[in-house]
Amino acid sequence: MKKYLNLQDIRNDIDNGILNCVDLVNGYIANIKESDNLNIFLEVFEDSALRKAKEVDEKIKQGTAGKLAGMVISIKDNICYKGHKVTASSKILEGFESLYSSTVVDKILKEDGIIIGRTNCDEFAMGSSNENSFYGNVKNPLDEDLTPGGSSGGAASSVAANLCLLALGSDTGGSIRQPASFTGTIGLKPTYGMVSRHGLIAYASSFDQIGPIANSIEDINLILNVISGKDEYDSTLSKFSEYDYLELVNDVPRMKIAFLDCYLNHSGINPEVKAKTEEVIASLKSMGHKVEMVDFDLLDQLVPTYYVITTAEASSNLARYDGIHFGYRSKNAFDLESTYLKSRSEGFGPEVKRRIMLGTYVLSAGYYDAYFTKAQKVRRLVRKRTKEILKEYDFIISPTTPHPAFELGSQNQDPIKMYLEDIFTVQANLAGNPAISLPIGKTKAGLPFGIQLMADDFKEKSLLDFSHNLINNFALKKA
Ligand code: GLN
Repeated sequence: MKKYLNLQDIRNDIDNGILNCVDLVNGYIANIKESDNLNIFLEVFEDSALRKAKEVDEKIKQGTAGKLAGMVISIKDNICYKGHKVTASSKILEGFESLYSSTVVDKILKEDGIIIGRTNCDEFAMGSSNENSFYGNVKNPLDEDLTPGGSSGGAASSVAANLCLLALGSDTGGSIRQPASFTGTIGLKPTYGMVSRHGLIAYASSFDQIGPIANSIEDINLILNVISGKDEYDSTLSKFSEYDYLELVNDVPRMKIAFLDCYLNHSGINPEVKAKTEEVIASLKSMGHKVEMVDFDLLDQLVPTYYVITTAEASSNLARYDGIHFGYRSKNAFDLESTYLKSRSEGFGPEVKRRIMLGTYVLSAGYYDAYFTKAQKVRRLVRKRTKEILKEYDFIISPTTPHPAFELGSQNQDPIKMYLEDIFTVQANLAGNPAISLPIGKTKAGLPFGIQLMADDFKEKSLLDFSHNLINNFALKKA
């Protein structure tokens, strides 16, 4: 099947009578089967997807189809869809079936999007390489020896490998943007409070956001229209969460853009990534935008602060997996305590256990102030400084990741090294502002990497307009 890069192309072919949704879904299912060895999908929802496709074809004929008609979407395996399995790629939830649908799934189905299946990810979204999945790692479709990134590695790969048009992932510290960077796709982490978290399996609730991965800004813009906005089930949604812009603007005004010297001069940055970022900065200047270097003295605090607070929240969120209410129960348990102990010991993988222990430690009476309270204070400073910069500048530009995709198995022995993967992405999660990864970098060896743009809270529209422009500009340059 032809590779569709945006919904408009699909709709054109449907309108011209050369495609229908059933054939489209069957085409994607065939692609999924062919690329089975990449381990991208944990399950294909063949029956419900084909049923929905039939319904949408009928609606298109009658002229009653919703905004997403023809959009085939994968969901990360931490997003609930009633009557379908969801495991957060963990053994502890093996076989668990969602009792209700997440708000994002409800909204997508209402607008006639077709959900094709659930994608592999790091267990409970904890990881940067997809190697922490109980169901095996995902291979990068661009080079099978490489990681697709994590934790939404299956999501990004499902788009990169042409197994669906758009993927929903979740981003707590970079899990949408980093895999997008590693697979040459576009990934958006919306502002915290823009998209309902109802029905998203929680990792760190004050960070988690659901967001899209796609090949076009048009599709990202469209899906944001559908999934954002108020929801009575999530009280953290902002009154500014309604995103109601269907058209992208072609001519963007001159912008003020900051780049952080400490990001670009970081010792771990790959020289090709650095050079490309400088090239993008130079062309932005030549396009008439004002780009300036700005100080940011909290870089070294970002990753430690992120890991103290997220592990604290995770230790509390994951307390519910007790072997009693739902999910895995150890066969070796003989009383209440051993049920808790053995079910959790056998059900969680090593990284999840490490984080639960770290989180419990930083929340324990003797260490609470030294770690958790202190990290909260630093988070406040990060937010304050980020807001200050974004008051003066429209965007902050940086690489998404310090380097392109790395080899599977090359970093998973050293958790600290793996945690440093998140160095450029966690700022937006600590501060809460939106950030996008754009696939405009490529190494000499042909590996993609992303350029990240951050904007102020709820400035998604200007972020997407600008990104659209930037991508087009680079596409033109390449042609
Ligand atoms: N790599 C980060 C972590 O392991 C980010 C995860 C995420 O965004 N879900 O925590």
